[in-house]
Amino acid sequence: MTLETGHIQVQTENIFPIIKKFLYSDHEIFLRELVSNATDATQKLKKLSALGEVKGEIGNINIEITIDETAKTLTVSDKGIGMTADEVKKYINQIAFSSATEFLDKFKKADAGDKTNIIGHFGLGFYSAFMVADHVEIVTKSYKDGAQAVKWSCDGSPSYTIEEVEKEERGTDIILYINEENKEYLEQHRVQTLLDKYCKFLPVPIQFGTTDQTNTVGEGEDAKDETIQVPNIINNTNPAWTRQPSELKDEDYQDFYRELYPFSEPPLFWIHLNVDFPFTLTGILYFPKVGNNFEMQRNKIQLYSNQVFVTDAVENIVPEFLMHMHGVIDSPDIPLNVSRSYLQGDPNVKKINAHITKKVADKLQELFNSSREDFETKWDQIELFVKFGMISDEKFYDRAKNFALLKNTEGKHFTFEEYTEHIKANQTDKNGQAVVLYATNADDQDAFIQAAKGRGYDVVLLTNMLDNHFINQLEGKLEKTSFKRVDADTLNNLIEKDETPESVLSKEDEDKVRNIFTDSISDAHVSVVTKALSPEEQPVLITKPEWMRRMKDMAAVSGGGGGAFGFGNLPEQLNLVVNTNHPLITKLLSAEAAEQTRLTTQLYDLALLSQNLLRGQKLTEFIKRSVGLMN
Ligand code: ADP
Repeated sequence: MTLETGHIQVQTENIFPIIKKFLYSDHEIFLRELVSNATDATQKLKKLSALGEVKGEIGNINIEITIDETAKTLTVSDKGIGMTADEVKKYINQIAFSSATEFLDKFKKADAGDKTNIIGHFGLGFYSAFMVADHVEIVTKSYKDGAQAVKWSCDGSPSYTIEEVEKEERGTDIILYINEENKEYLEQHRVQTLLDKYCKFLPVPIQFGTTDQTNTVGEGEDAKDETIQVPNIINNTNPAWTRQPSELKDEDYQDFYRELYPFSEPPLFWIHLNVDFPFTLTGILYFPKVGNNFEMQRNKIQLYSNQVFVTDAVENIVPEFLMHMHGVIDSPDIPLNVSRSYLQGDPNVKKINAHITKKVADKLQELFNSSREDFETKWDQIELFVKFGMISDEKFYDRAKNFALLKNTEGKHFTFEEYTEHIKANQTDKNGQAVVLYATNADDQDAFIQAAKGRGYDVVLLTNMLDNHFINQLEGKLEKTSFKRVDADTLNNLIEKDETPESVLSKEDEDKVRNIFTDSISDAHVSVVTKALSPEEQPVLITKPEWMRRMKDMAAVSGGGGGAFGFGNLPEQLNLVVNTNHPLITKLLSAEAAEQTRLTTQLYDLALLSQNLLRGQKLTEFIKRSVGLMN
């Protein structure tokens, strides 16, 4: 019996063509919207039952998705609270309709860039069904005693009908007559993919078709395998993040990680987030093994709202330096119906950011305190996160300075405080500055590392891509401390002390030596300087002045040109330091002209070689010359 025919729409324009036309790129979210509604209805029923307001057993409450390829329908069925005819009119014709209209208004006004963001985050609700179907039916029966089932039907024009129908079970079927352009949603595989994406952790079991299950029946020799068909439940209704940390073992966290990222290596460790004031936020963040593909690890955090997948683009919600973490955050308090730029300024989002940052710092501190040894083995994997955080976030720096580590060339780890103490006696210069010597490549700079060690100095390894910035940061923060790369200068100058050796050469001889070298070296980027060093140091040495090198490194990191200063275009400036106190230099002075040239070239090449700068033709000539010298 037809109860009513009417027009849904009372005000404004016909929104159906707009739903279809404007939102074409995100059609797939219709399924998320409908399954979310079915979940809500089921959760409400469970609540009412717990309160004793639903008579008897509630029975199987699985939500079921079915596809009928012949009828070209996709149906979402739930056994939730259902609706009476009056409720259909109120909720579907009025409330849902006006919120869909409101949504479309917002959508039309949004900038192009925000449009996808809005639809991804803020659902069109029930009416999103009309993105993929020209004709939609609701067959529903309320949980209320003696309720009459009704069918609402709408063909994508503003008119609808409601009629009484027979329906045995409580709950709602939403039947979509999928149109030609969207027939992909009649494909098993496509729908399975969507359910996996949006519904994987919904709190009510979601059934999609059946799957084979092999059981062993009988015992002993009679035992045999039997394959039966069981419902294919696509979701985990009780994911780890929704449980209490006290209920969970390490294994549970690891299993959940595997569920999220089936092909990844096990995580290093994790943080269970659980806040209920002043906002609600749960989740688990994992520190992945980063290995070499640091960039590949980005954008792996998934954002949920009450277990419904929202997005994996969480840029404005998670602090930038933690974007390489993995895992899940779930918060109904993150306002998702607003633009990205607004999100950045939102006070809740700021609090969430600060909270996550604090939790991460706490966890690292806890690991550091509970097992220093274990923490040190993980340091290589996490240092990039930690350093990035220290550079970009003052608050994080203040916490991390207590557990961040420096590793020296012997593989020993120190906190900043321990390290300053470690080098104080031997590496304080005449101005009272502690000088931290570092290497950025243990192989290339080996000659310099060994020389520094020979003098009892310690050298730390700062080899990752952020270390340039990190050094600047530390110099700004640590008192009376400067950083110098081992090859920035001669040992005497790296850490200037009061006692400097006297030169054995006269002023004139020094000038002579300088000229000999300048004449035989034809490279404009190399300046020759003479220095009275200890006779044990190298006779000639190539150094890369610290300041100039840093500028170049910075320019390289920030993408070539070096910005306004153009440092990236500067040629590498090298110093050739000639140790006037070395016996070979005395020998050079008294040698014949031809011998002088041969010696200077050979010494210069050796210096280049120890900086890993001798290549190609020059290297070939050097080898030839060396063999000649041996004869
Ligand atoms: P929202 O879910 O954001 O409230 P919708 O447009 O999706 O908006 O749905 C509007 C209303 O219709 C819901 O609030 C609910 O009262 C009712 N409704 C939708 N789907 C169902 C369902 N499967 N079972 C019961 N009620 C439903």
